[in-house]
Amino acid sequence: MNDIEIADLYQELIVDHSRRPRNYRRLENATHQAEGFNPLCGDKVKVYVDLENDVVRDISFEGEGCAISKASASLMTETIKGKSKAEVEQLFSRFRDLATGTGDGSGLGKLAVFSGLRGFPARVKCATLVWHTLRAALEQTANIVSTE
Ligand code: ZN
Repeated sequence: MNDIEIADLYQELIVDHSRRPRNYRRLENATHQAEGFNPLCGDKVKVYVDLENDVVRDISFEGEGCAISKASASLMTETIKGKSKAEVEQLFSRFRDLATGTGDGSGLGKLAVFSGLRGFPARVKCATLVWHTLRAALEQTANIVSTE
């Protein structure tokens, strides 16, 4: 990756959220939680959700990883607070389509900044890790998910 590509990828909003991640804490009264791991990059994330009547009342995360994974987790938690499980599913599929290059990012708000990931398949995993982890938490099918 050359400098220009990196500059394109790490847009201002991503840099800001990776340096000062929002909702970065442990949620003591979480009803759902899961851990995710992206072995390709070394990203680790733990997602905590307080779900009430199928609505995300509160959400937070903890973890270590690259700027993309942190920014994605930060922006995701901001975006889905107050959303229903059905809305979360809809956002996830739009986000995945955007990151892999098949969607236009409509309805995604700030999450549309990740359109810069097109053409960087390895980085797409960094960005979608937290979403896979969130879905695992909500479905409680697995406590630990891996992108590999
Ligand atoms: Zn990463």
